Amino acid sequence: MTAFVFSEPNFDNHEQVVFVSEPKSGLKAILAVHNTNLGPAMGGCRMWNYASEADAVTDVLRLSRGMTYKNAVAGLPIGGGKSVIIANPKTDKTPVLFEALGEALERLGGRYVTAEDVGTNTDDMAHVARKTRHVAGLGETGDPSPFTALGCFVGAQAAVKYHLKRDSMEGLVVALQGLGNVGFDYARRLRQAGARLIVTDIDQAALERARTELGAEVVPVDSIYDVEADIYAPCALGATLNPNTLGRLKVKIVAGGANNQLATADIGEFLRQKGILYVPDFVINAGGIIKVCYEHLKKPENEVEAHVRRIGDTLTEIFERAAHEGVATSVEADRVAELRFKR
Ligand code: NAD
Repeated sequence: MTAFVFSEPNFDNHEQVVFVSEPKSGLKAILAVHNTNLGPAMGGCRMWNYASEADAVTDVLRLSRGMTYKNAVAGLPIGGGKSVIIANPKTDKTPVLFEALGEALERLGGRYVTAEDVGTNTDDMAHVARKTRHVAGLGETGDPSPFTALGCFVGAQAAVKYHLKRDSMEGLVVALQGLGNVGFDYARRLRQAGARLIVTDIDQAALERARTELGAEVVPVDSIYDVEADIYAPCALGATLNPNTLGRLKVKIVAGGANNQLATADIGEFLRQKGILYVPDFVINAGGIIKVCYEHLKKPENEVEAHVRRIGDTLTEIFERAAHEGVATSVEADRVAELRFKR
């Protein structure tokens, strides 16, 4: 068998990568602790029917590294980690499977704290919690996505102020992709601030709701990249900023909640050269992890909103420094993170 962890392109000196196999429950999982310099690693558990084990390794390495960067820039006292369960979330969930994951977390002794992610939910995490306390976001106070949406909104405000020299969203046009938990709430805030919305989704009910509740104009899924707008707000898929879409975008700012928006790192520089201000995804979408972290560390809940709102100031500093250094905002965001977590 090929050794595919140390030589994997996404391997970035991860502190620990643990392969868990528990035949009785059927659990096959990989837990990756990328960096704990700032505190215990925190990041969700993804359940996905990966086409191959190699795909699962790639995903867990990439996602756990991303969490280190996100948590560091957000100013949280936690490191970055992530876990993946290789199984079908629609057919393979059982309480014992998540209990077995809890036992694996317990063996890590708190170096990694998990939470829900794509394919898992708060009910699953409740099973994990039977075996360990190293699990966050158990749903006591609900869904983190409204805080992610708030972060997106303050991030967009900062971008508009910096790039368009405007204090108000009134009359701005936003092309928004994905009206899910984050996207719809973000859209509502934009609408309340006076923006005009052009939206798309694959879910007809979400589109109808946006049309009636937010007065949004609806466009077909692939047309969102051709819309003439001030802001493109990706809130669904990753990698929508890619060689196919780059030439089509007619916007001044990209500010959305989706993870991993740049298909490859060099796209950040291409956006800069086109004069489009890219708001780095892992900075603008940190509202949810801020909320989950406060809950887990039992920090005062009434301070969460103020912390999320500071995303705006962090972004303004990143925009200014990137311009000063003549680099992409994505490069500057990475640098800010590395200054905080690298020793
Ligand atoms: P969600 O599943 O609630 O919403 C996603 C929406 O995108 C759905 O309405 C879906 O129908 C739509 N969609 C899927 N494919 C599409 C396509 N091809 N074109 C247009 N729309 C499409 O998810 P969410 O929790 O709102 O998360 C959205 C994004 O934000 C994801 O990338 C997620 O990783 C990221 N994110 C979420 C949070 C959070 O707090 N939920 C935090 C950080 C990052």
